[in-house]
Amino acid sequence: MIYLDNNATTQLHPEALEAMMPFLTDAYANPSSGYASSRRVKKAVDLARDQVASLLGAHPEEIIFTSGGTEADNTAIASATACLPQKKHLVASTPEHPAVIQFFEMLEQEEGHSFSLVPVDGEGQLDLDQLDAMIKPNETALVSLMWANNETGVIYPIAEIAERLAHKGVFFHTDAVQAVGKTPINVHDAGVHFLALSGHKFHGPKGVGALYASSNVRLKPRFIGGAQELGRRGGTENVASIVGLGKAAELMTTKLATKGQEKVRIERDYFEASLTARLPGVRVNGHPENRLTNTANVAFDGIESAALLIMLDQEEICASAGSACHTGALHSSPVLAAMGFDRERALGTARFSLSSFTTREELDQAIKIIASSVEKLRSMRSGSGVSVSS
Ligand code: PLP
Repeated sequence: MIYLDNNATTQLHPEALEAMMPFLTDAYANPSSGYASSRRVKKAVDLARDQVASLLGAHPEEIIFTSGGTEADNTAIASATACLPQKKHLVASTPEHPAVIQFFEMLEQEEGHSFSLVPVDGEGQLDLDQLDAMIKPNETALVSLMWANNETGVIYPIAEIAERLAHKGVFFHTDAVQAVGKTPINVHDAGVHFLALSGHKFHGPKGVGALYASSNVRLKPRFIGGAQELGRRGGTENVASIVGLGKAAELMTTKLATKGQEKVRIERDYFEASLTARLPGVRVNGHPENRLTNTANVAFDGIESAALLIMLDQEEICASAGSACHTGALHSSPVLAAMGFDRERALGTARFSLSSFTTREELDQAIKIIASSVEKLRSMRSGSGVSVSS
């Protein structure tokens, strides 16, 4: 298998698995109990909190473990709206993840909120003046903007935005699920109130994540129960997964300090350049520089990427499309639609996302198969009058 879908999920790092194993076997005590074996487990959870805090430049007590990115996003939004009940307006951007947008829609339908979406340009970049204009004094409770986009990898200038929002009386949350571990982040320098992350996007386990909540803001718990997580998230801790998340965070801290993401960028650039050189009618979507080093969002003229992905799947190459098939009809990606791409470009787009585990040999093999599959699909359509320009 050649796995080029690391924005969907990543391989569990062998060192994370190794760190988890004792907590799936012998060390099963509840970290809240009072005996020596539970103190060992509690120490492991505390270490994981330190490791996640280090990756983000946060204080350990600002980290709350969750079941993943979705829960962290939902918790931040719910807390912000609960803490400012008189303010009923929210702001996000058009290509935001459903964990944010659908929660906004729920608040609109059930709690009387309204929301505005800041548009992006053809390179996926935010219009900051429109963002400023959308903040309604005395009405806007929260601005929620992703650090990096899951489909294109485009990065928003979060620190600059935080500065613009600083005296507007709004909470600022960032969904950094795709950014954490792939690009350096310091939450205090960035000036955000909340940040969501997810373990399985950077070689930790699935079903675990964290919410950073600045010590300057109050966090209203979403899960009410025991006093775990300093009373901010009830429920016995998912210890093994938290330990795996912590280990993955430690590994990513080292990787970022040693410019490991630059090695991924070299491979991603090689992949894009090779495809563009081999095939006419190939365009890379998203800002050329302001994007994650691992993500290649590529539009192939004259084909439907859904068909390409089926051909790649037969060759055991995993990637994903800028489209989804619902009830038999092809729908183009809302992210690409938000960037103003026409239906044909969106339906011809595939996402390839690399990791540090991706090798040059795998890429060479994938490039060869992608190029021949695209040529085959184009030749099948050539009788239908579709032309491809270089
Ligand atoms: N936010 C973004 C940008 C994502 O890409 C994802 C997952 O794909 C999530 C949130 C949800 O994270 P999780 O799968 O951990 O709930």
